[in-house]
Amino acid sequence: MNQPVVTIVVPCYNEEEVLGETTRQLTYLMEDLETDRWIHPQSRILFVDDGSKDGTWELIEKESLVNGFVTGLKLSRNAGHQNALLAGLMEAKDFSDCVISIDADLQDDIGVIRDFILKYKEGCEIVYGVRKRRDSDTFFKRVTANGFYGFMKKIGIDLIPNHADFRLMSKRALVELCRYEESNPFLRGIIPLIGMKTANVYYDRKERLAGETKYPLKKMLAFAADGITSFSIVPIRFVTVIGVMAVCLSMLTGAYTMVHKIVGNTAAGWSSLMVSIWFIGGLQLMGIGVIGEYIGKIFREVKRRPKYSIETSLNLNKVGNKPKEREENELPVVSRY
Ligand code: UDP
Ligand code: MG
Repeated sequence: MNQPVVTIVVPCYNEEEVLGETTRQLTYLMEDLETDRWIHPQSRILFVDDGSKDGTWELIEKESLVNGFVTGLKLSRNAGHQNALLAGLMEAKDFSDCVISIDADLQDDIGVIRDFILKYKEGCEIVYGVRKRRDSDTFFKRVTANGFYGFMKKIGIDLIPNHADFRLMSKRALVELCRYEESNPFLRGIIPLIGMKTANVYYDRKERLAGETKYPLKKMLAFAADGITSFSIVPIRFVTVIGVMAVCLSMLTGAYTMVHKIVGNTAAGWSSLMVSIWFIGGLQLMGIGVIGEYIGKIFREVKRRPKYSIETSLNLNKVGNKPKEREENELPVVSRY
């Protein structure tokens, strides 16, 4: 417990531009933590290659030959950030006391990893990295992110505001996470449901070290929609409420029309008819769309397809739940940059 085996899980998708620098910085950190006896010598960095199309995996492979901290996991295809992260967490939990997840672009401050470990040693099972401010984001991303967190809170989804996937989880928390079997994991929504003793650590988020975001607008919107529909049936209820309101409204207009008919004032009416047909038609389509989203979700859930498949792994030494002691002649070669 005093020197926990820590694994840092880094999902990577087409990150060849940034991976060299990321490895360098993380290796320095691991060396320092090990020298200061904060972590067990069997602690590792686990890069999960999420079906990259560039030279990401070759870089990881090459690095693993000279850098004893580096281990790797290659997924057979691009499974998406959340699935790649989950693959890393599930793999690492078997041989780690705690696992820290961080993005490959090192936008998150690795300096606070010490605070994560400190909190873990104080007994926290989950430590969330929370951004102090969002200045490094574009105006657009800031506004949409704030809107998203606000909306999620309104409809009763308990997210940690301004926390992405930079966090520490203990083995216990990870074992608990395994019990959430949904095929569409939205980790930052699921993990707060685990409960247990948690802590927040605050940090400033930087610009990407290199390369481009792997979350273009389309992926971001899909991610937000997934987050909402995986955790809440409020949108369906909303459609029902609108439906009820539309029915009430149509009763009123019905009464209004009847009065006009009795009075004999029925010539006009084409425009109101058109408006209501379009309005009700629109509402119906919207309702069917929202319900369809949920049915689509059910469809995917019932199939219980594997969320990812692992093609290869590098240097992962797991033996049951206990880390294997390395033989003397097997000691990793750690290269100083
Ligand atoms: N990522 C991944 N699979 C994907 C998309 C992204 O593993 O399909 C990884 C990516 O390599 C990075 C992390 O997820 O380590 C976050 O992506 P990015 O930094 O591009 O997102 P942003 O910070 O712009 O939201
Ligand atoms: Mg990023």
